[in-house]
Amino acid sequence: MDEPGPAASAPTAESVVERIAGMQERVHILTGAICNNNCIFCMEEDRDGRYETNSQTTDETVRWITGLNRNTEEVCFTSGEPTTNPSLARWVKIAHDQGIRRISVMTNARALSHEPTLRRLLAAGMTRFYVSIHGHDAKLHESLTRTPGSFDQTLGGIDNIRKYKSRGIELHTSTVITRRNLPHLGEIYRFLRAHGVDQVVFNVMQANGRANTYFERIFPPYTEIAAGAKAFLDEQGAIEAQVPAFLVDIPLCTTTALPDFNRGYVERYAHYEPPTAAAEQLIPASRLASRTIEREDQKAVKVTRSDLDDAQRQKRAACATCRYDASCEGVWTNYLKRYGWDEFVPVPA
Ligand code: SF4
Repeated sequence: MDEPGPAASAPTAESVVERIAGMQERVHILTGAICNNNCIFCMEEDRDGRYETNSQTTDETVRWITGLNRNTEEVCFTSGEPTTNPSLARWVKIAHDQGIRRISVMTNARALSHEPTLRRLLAAGMTRFYVSIHGHDAKLHESLTRTPGSFDQTLGGIDNIRKYKSRGIELHTSTVITRRNLPHLGEIYRFLRAHGVDQVVFNVMQANGRANTYFERIFPPYTEIAAGAKAFLDEQGAIEAQVPAFLVDIPLCTTTALPDFNRGYVERYAHYEPPTAAAEQLIPASRLASRTIEREDQKAVKVTRSDLDDAQRQKRAACATCRYDASCEGVWTNYLKRYGWDEFVPVPA
């Protein structure tokens, strides 16, 4: 997967704290063992491990998980590049037949430049697309995907999805912020909006996987990212009353200068995976039994986003005095190793 869940909110007058408190849990279905891009910041560096986990998803798994979660607000197919999996349309149909109302995919959309492929997903019940695109031209985008030709195909996918918006299909994008594209947020935003994108999400990297391996080359400090976002939003805010762009996965103490509306957040989600030692390590032993589900010869463990956060993020004692403490997931340990705590000043209540 290129990047974790864009989770921008729909236009609302609620504060970011209220929006975070009101989040519903979504369900992720791990579809991909393969990706046709090679992004420099991909957090799924352990491709062999991913193959082992994700290749165990079957029709029965999808039917089982979606049947258990019929009331979820969204089922999202993700991990690897879901469109490279020939089962995807069939799995979307299974989720649809279970009564899931919103079915989405995180995708680089290259395969969707082939319109019949897109139409198959729409016919099966797909309703929302989160398209990963990291620049407003081929040079910038492909310097990050490291895949020649990927920009034209991704843009072709976006332009195809756009044609179906009048039928209620939603088109969101996810742009991972790096040192290279940070100076171009405004150009990227305007380019994507001109191509019909409803919500433009700027995702700050998770300091894991390749983003950790290449950290010094690509990961800007949060305060630089917040300053870049503010400059873009000030400029764009003079043109549009409400700018549908969201900065996601950055501690809120570093974004107090941004309009509250544009401060996004990482969605609350869970996925299910086989009960390997790696999966079980993420979950406190006291909760493991309540997180394990079984049927016939199948067993799976429910892993939440908070499990991943708790394992790899930190807070310090002063965070207890911060007005965002309850909403904040903490700071990536791998980020703190490079930049330390100086940027993270608790915000008084
Ligand atoms: S709790 Fe800590 S890291 Fe989180 S926003 Fe507040 S000061 Fe920043």
